[in-house]
Amino acid sequence: MIRRVAVFGATGSIGTSALDVIARHPQRLRASVLAAGSNVSALIALCATHRPDHAVIADPSGLTALRSGLRAAGLATQAHAGMAALDALAVDAEACDTVVAAIVGAAGLDSTLAALRAGKRVLLANKESLVLAGDLMMRAAREAGAVIVPIDSEHNAIHQCLPADGDRSGVARIVLTASGGPFRGRDRAALAEVTPAQAVAHPKWSMGPKISVDSATLMNKGLELIEAHHLFATPSERLDVLVHPQSLVHSLVEFIDGSTLAQLGLPDMRTALAVGLGSPERIASGVSGLDLLQHGRLDFEAPDTDTFPCLALARAALIAGGTAPALLNAANEVAVSAFLQGRIRFLAIPALVEHVLAALPTLPADSLDVLRDADAQARRAAGQAIDSGVVH
Ligand code: NAD
Ligand code: MG
Repeated sequence: MIRRVAVFGATGSIGTSALDVIARHPQRLRASVLAAGSNVSALIALCATHRPDHAVIADPSGLTALRSGLRAAGLATQAHAGMAALDALAVDAEACDTVVAAIVGAAGLDSTLAALRAGKRVLLANKESLVLAGDLMMRAAREAGAVIVPIDSEHNAIHQCLPADGDRSGVARIVLTASGGPFRGRDRAALAEVTPAQAVAHPKWSMGPKISVDSATLMNKGLELIEAHHLFATPSERLDVLVHPQSLVHSLVEFIDGSTLAQLGLPDMRTALAVGLGSPERIASGVSGLDLLQHGRLDFEAPDTDTFPCLALARAALIAGGTAPALLNAANEVAVSAFLQGRIRFLAIPALVEHVLAALPTLPADSLDVLRDADAQARRAAGQAIDSGVVH
């Protein structure tokens, strides 16, 4: 049977990689729903290529242009707008059986949670939703029998290395690799004046602007620690980070018998997406195999948490639990957006996250309302700190 795939965040880096893999397998996969934030013309162009049943533009002001563009292109694709339309299509049994959750930021939470509650197969790239509400999401998946395939290179690697039956008793340690980002090896003084253009120029991966900045601050690896904790039910003390500048070893799992399994490959997210789209079978992704002779060497070093405090802040939030990861994530989203707009300096990103975590209490995270409230409060506190110049 053909898998009907909804791609949420279709115009982004992950979304277009997912569509590339889907288009390689017309007998097996079909893009049935495409959704984007606000870029109507990019969404229409994707619809012309992939001919989905439904197209959603999250920004409601884009509906008229989407509808007329689809009609002008002679497409039968139905146009929808608003986040509620995303949630409705995520649960609709006719519309899709698989959801690629590739919206950036906490904005992806509701549609991802809706897909999990509906028992869909979810290819989860939207790591911020797990950081914000990981316990609730994992519980929803268990209760509904939803399958989650991690679409983060590290977590997809770990997913491939762990036993498929879910038995974790033999696992001693999980090691996430990190490229170190564009500023690896620099000290704090050298980071004072770095620009958004320098921060988004990742040495190994081509990604959206938000995750590229997160990679430059190492917050991305911090978010990934929290993500790994939820996906693999592993406590902080058994999660390690190792900097590996070549980005060829995507992560490692160490077992109690002394074995370490790793997954290697070129840095291209289509491999992870193919694992999720094809499983249990392996399917072609368009990514070629790894020629280790050509690469020659694999280097490893410890992360520098003095220069890049975001990693330590995220680790502390994971250990604190409750609403702390939600506060961390929201403050970071505000900080990264302000940095990209040229409103704050690079070093203000960790400063702002630290400020918000110190200013707001960490509460038990026993409901979605509590988490949403923490997210909103952190955004407010971060915005005020920027506006008042406390952090700049
Ligand atoms: P991107 O900026 O390239 O794309 C983001 C997508 O989300 C776009 O299609 C955009 O239209 C959509 N979007 C943004 N705001 C929205 C909203 N409010 N409602 C609906 N849609 C909205 O980002 P990306 O690099 O593709 O990353 C997407 C997610 O995947 C992020 O959570 C990121 O951390 C994760 N991820 C990305 C990579 C990568 O290689 N790019 C790797 C691992 C994880
Ligand atoms: Mg990653």
